[in-house]
Amino acid sequence: MPEVIFSHDPAKPMAEQNVPGHNRWHPDIPPAASVRSGQEFRVECREWTDGQIGNNDSANDVRDVNINNSHMLSGPIAVEGAEPGDLVAIDIMDLGPIPQQNGPVCGQGWGYSGIFAKVNGGGFLTDYYPEAYKAIWDFHGQETTSRHIPGVRFTGISHPGLFGVAPSHELLGKWNERERALIATDPDRVPPLALPPLVDSTLAGRADEATAARVAAEGARTVPPRENGGNHDIKNFTRGSRVFYPVHVPGALLSVGDLHFSQGDGEINFCGAIEMGGFIDLRVEVIKGGMETYGVHNNPVLIPGRVQPQYSEWLTFIGVSVDHRDNTNYYMDATLAYRNACLNAIEYLKKWGYTGEQAYLILGTAPIEGRISGVVDLPNACCSVYLPTEIFDFDIRPGNGGPVKTDRGQVCVAS
Ligand code: ZN
Repeated sequence: MPEVIFSHDPAKPMAEQNVPGHNRWHPDIPPAASVRSGQEFRVECREWTDGQIGNNDSANDVRDVNINNSHMLSGPIAVEGAEPGDLVAIDIMDLGPIPQQNGPVCGQGWGYSGIFAKVNGGGFLTDYYPEAYKAIWDFHGQETTSRHIPGVRFTGISHPGLFGVAPSHELLGKWNERERALIATDPDRVPPLALPPLVDSTLAGRADEATAARVAAEGARTVPPRENGGNHDIKNFTRGSRVFYPVHVPGALLSVGDLHFSQGDGEINFCGAIEMGGFIDLRVEVIKGGMETYGVHNNPVLIPGRVQPQYSEWLTFIGVSVDHRDNTNYYMDATLAYRNACLNAIEYLKKWGYTGEQAYLILGTAPIEGRISGVVDLPNACCSVYLPTEIFDFDIRPGNGGPVKTDRGQVCVAS
């Protein structure tokens, strides 16, 4: 096992750890640890909400979740010798749940998946599912099952939902400027168009008081992916992957968190993967001047790992950029097309006795493949969702027998 350079006591929130992490992007958050180019090391991670969600049968905790403290990240980790203009190459050697199983902390043999209420950020289908829901998933080695979604068992593809480097002051200023401009176009929207810096619940690692106040006032929220990486939620960013981040500040300042046991393409229910605390083993290397050499400026580049569940049969649902509720055509809107593909999959799964919420959570957690199929055939963009049929313990394919509708219960609801 590589040396643990950022440890975490599962029983304590991040702010009470010996060396706390952080939950904003800001260049002035001091490093929690440092590593050399070529070094292999382990980082322990909190589940992204810092332990607000319990292993129980109620969605009240998802309904009431405080997302102001999210995502709780481990780091920053300084890479010796990394300078702005370099690329830092990171290998994910391994990752997984907390090694001590059967405990009350998320990641100790279990994880969860939630649908956020519309007033609390919502999800991809929030207009259709505006309330809070939750499912608990038990880990069996690489496989997972849920007592709230019977008849489904699948192999996870574990990955960090969130990984990135610190922005420079200049880059942070650009983010805040453009996101404020976006919010100003519809400031009262629910859910909001973007999340501006917020003092409440800010954690700035080991920063002194004055620095922590600056981080709270200016620090970028961790929800979106940006030029520094961030919340990519790429399911194939799994063990064996190698990612190349542009370096914006001396030491690069890596941070990681929001580990997922499994996730479908799109992470459609927002709190959408199977969330867990755990560990990740990494190796870093500095490529001097790599940003210019390889033309990598705006976003990281990734070589996905060679490991993924070997599902070979799929039922594919298609969506186009039309709002079928009022027969409105939207021009080349791939987001709407993907939403329709998901809604079509949910309608199909309901015929087998799943509730819409159960089906929504299957699409968010199982290793479904999302594809952009066509974005040139005006006026309709076309997207598709590939659902692996082998994850069900019954034959889900259309056929002469028709769907066998069984009572499959329901996910956790809020009281
Ligand atoms: Zn997550």
